[in-house]
Amino acid sequence: MAWDFETDPEFQQKLDWMTDFVREKVEPLGLLGIHPYDVGNPRRNELVRPLQREVKEQGLWACHLGPELGGQGYGQVKLGLMNEILGGASFAPIVFGCQAPDTGNAEIIAHYGTPEQKTRYLEPLLENEIVSGFSMTEPQGGSDPTTFVTRAVKDGDDWVIDGEKWFTTNGRWAEFVIVMAVTDPDAPRHERTSMFIVPVDTPGVEIVRNVGVYGQEDGSESYIRYTGVRVPGDHLLGDRGGAFAISQTRLGGGRVHHAMRTVGSCRRLLDAMSRRAVSRKTRAGTIADYQAVQMQIADSYIELEQFRLFVLKTAWMIDRHRDYRKVRKDIAAIKALMPKVYHDIASRCIHIHGSLGVSNEMPFVGNLIGAMVMGIADGPTEVHKVTVAKQHLRAYRDVEDPIFPDYSLLERRARAQEMYDPVEEILEAAE
Ligand SMILES: Cc1cc2nc3c(=O)[nH]c(=O)nc-3n(C[C@H](O)[C@H](O)[C@H](O)COP(=O)(O)OP(=O)(O)OC[C@H]3O[C@@H](n4cnc5c(N)ncnc54)[C@H](O)[C@@H]3O)c2cc1C
Repeated sequence: MAWDFETDPEFQQKLDWMTDFVREKVEPLGLLGIHPYDVGNPRRNELVRPLQREVKEQGLWACHLGPELGGQGYGQVKLGLMNEILGGASFAPIVFGCQAPDTGNAEIIAHYGTPEQKTRYLEPLLENEIVSGFSMTEPQGGSDPTTFVTRAVKDGDDWVIDGEKWFTTNGRWAEFVIVMAVTDPDAPRHERTSMFIVPVDTPGVEIVRNVGVYGQEDGSESYIRYTGVRVPGDHLLGDRGGAFAISQTRLGGGRVHHAMRTVGSCRRLLDAMSRRAVSRKTRAGTIADYQAVQMQIADSYIELEQFRLFVLKTAWMIDRHRDYRKVRKDIAAIKALMPKVYHDIASRCIHIHGSLGVSNEMPFVGNLIGAMVMGIADGPTEVHKVTVAKQHLRAYRDVEDPIFPDYSLLERRARAQEMYDPVEEILEAAE
């Protein structure tokens, strides 16, 4: 029997250290008007580098990676518990060396990159000396990669890229971006596109503007135009035509990590709404004495616990299978569940705080937008639900004569009687 929901005492000590460290030293950085990814900003580096050193000394650096890449090889369950602490503090992932989208980019360069690509791009990325972007979504098409029109054409030994990409997170601070471009338009649907590592100082890379998610004054979602961008042949990442498979490897991990951090954000919201409920006075006592408020606290607790267990179970399955594709259904399921749980808990937290909840004194409206982002980024909820349904229905593909014989009470009763109450035999025995 291996059902166990306990954390090793030794690892719990690390989590306790993380909790204090994040609260006391990391969270305040998010209030200074500096962006965590702005690696060219000396003030940012002055503040972040010593904290990153402390994390390394604790053996908690880059825990999404195996030891061969400088990580700890803790696996996804431990990473899940850690990410719960990192969720909600904007600088925390970067201080612990496990920030998106660099995590996903590092993962695919580690998996598909050549030794030269690893030396030039992966090593500095893992040390957070540089940051990177992932340039897949286009202005005219996001959810459906078959609508992408950015082209990469072979010219001698080089590739020349033309097109536009939209919502390349951190493109403005990136040293390089990984661009998904059509290389083989006549190939089968899933073999038309390839990935390229493109240094952003390559001539022809132009940031049209940096779009912000609503409420962000200084956007980090880069709208990038690629005009005749020439990269050497060795900047192709993985196989020609392999982008679709590569992006699935990349997005699988990213989705789970988002879900882990969202557990942490939801926990903070539940904590805030509970504190408010027991402290806000009313003629009856506090608002926590009203059943209508208790229902909101109870629903939030129940939904959070369900979501958390589902996320950790998915993490456990990834550790077991060591292949995101084998856990596709549950990764898609937690991706689809995440925005709903986050949205509902954030809405209740705002509501219970009254006017304070919607004000800019509190971060809760930002959480609400964060929940909506989780329903769109890395693919909209609908697409993930379709994946869940298709994967689930696979088990039923070979059922030949489905409904009637299996479910009809009359048929089943007849079969049961045949098994347990064989009238003929009883009669014979009686004779
Ligand atoms: C904050 C943020 C960061 C992001 N970072 C990156 C990044 O770093 N790199 C990158 O490449 N992209 C990034 N994205 C883009 C993201 O991947 C896309 O927004 C997403 O894939 C959806 O594409 P779209 O925005 O074009 O929406 P559309 O494809 O236009 O979809 C709009 C809506 O149509 C519906 N819909 C679409 N397809 C289906 C379907 N098959 N079935 C049912 N309904 C459907 C859904 O309701 C969906 O929400 C980011 C997005 C956000 C919000």
